Amino acid sequence: MEFIPNKHGFVEIRLESIGGQGAYSVGQMLAQIGVEGSHLHAICFADYGSEKKGAPVKTFVRFAKDDVTILNYSPVNEPQIVAVFHELLFKTQPVTDGLHTDGILIVNTDQTPEQLRAMYNLNVKTIVTVDATKIALQYKTKLNTAMLGAIFSSLNFLDPTLAADAIEKMFGYKYPHLVEPNVSTFKDGMEQAQTHVFTDVEAGIAHTRKPTPFGYETQNQGGEIAGPNSYTKNLTASREGMMPEYLNEKCIHCSNCDNVCPDFCFVWEEGVDARGRAQMFLQGIDYNYCKGCLKCVEVCPTQALVSMVEERDYADAHRVQKPFDFLGGVK
Ligand code: SF4
Ligand code: SF4
Repeated sequence: MEFIPNKHGFVEIRLESIGGQGAYSVGQMLAQIGVEGSHLHAICFADYGSEKKGAPVKTFVRFAKDDVTILNYSPVNEPQIVAVFHELLFKTQPVTDGLHTDGILIVNTDQTPEQLRAMYNLNVKTIVTVDATKIALQYKTKLNTAMLGAIFSSLNFLDPTLAADAIEKMFGYKYPHLVEPNVSTFKDGMEQAQTHVFTDVEAGIAHTRKPTPFGYETQNQGGEIAGPNSYTKNLTASREGMMPEYLNEKCIHCSNCDNVCPDFCFVWEEGVDARGRAQMFLQGIDYNYCKGCLKCVEVCPTQALVSMVEERDYADAHRVQKPFDFLGGVK
């Protein structure tokens, strides 16, 4: 993409990610490279909300020519470029909201641009896909530098040769051993990005924002939030490529895993043991709430829990749903 400013004189990028994936670092590096290498003005800031690691985060980058002063610090609502750091964010977040149909959508996925477009009914001219998770697992890095590479594959107003310097500045002081693998992750992300330009898109800007269920007209009396809070959310987008696999035949139902799991993912059922005594038996994992921290794998004494690279649709196929008897269950 050339530097084609919008009506305000900016080129605007929105990074859709989850806390912990390092999207803000990508935004900082993009802004730094724009300022130092292309003599642009640039700002980068993020919308974290009040949430924690694992929650959706938006990062905004705004560029302008050096004769335009950036005084606008409002969120980027109509970006020319959107980068989605986890494909599952499509399920829970309006990630393409406000994206110009002649803009660029960059997604971390194992799908091709054509497959992704068909899966999510996307109406955007240029779709770039890259399996950033796979690249990051290969180099034992985070997927953010692979996504930086994919972003550079579609921009030509920033100089990719400056990315190594930016990575050095980002990691070199505290984590010098991470500089080289992250430079390799960046290069692979750039080389492995697949781009497809679609010619049959409808012109315009698509706003897909859904109304909140807790607006001033719809909230319960007294602002009460009925039902569990995070339990009703689908948190699968917070996984970063790894997840636990449960091997029932090796399980001794010791509950070590349940004691360390921060999100109460384990599902139990009462039964009787070989001597006829009442005991709780582990049924499996409700992957809807599993963020892939792998603490359970570390404490399992019998290797009934092992770590695996997340496979498409595995979690849905192997999810043991929490009963939530009093709440009717969460589908
Ligand atoms: S820690 Fe391992 S053996 Fe113990 S209940 Fe969990 S899965 Fe089963
Ligand atoms: S990886 Fe294990 S401990 Fe971590 S959230 Fe998932 S089930 Fe719980």
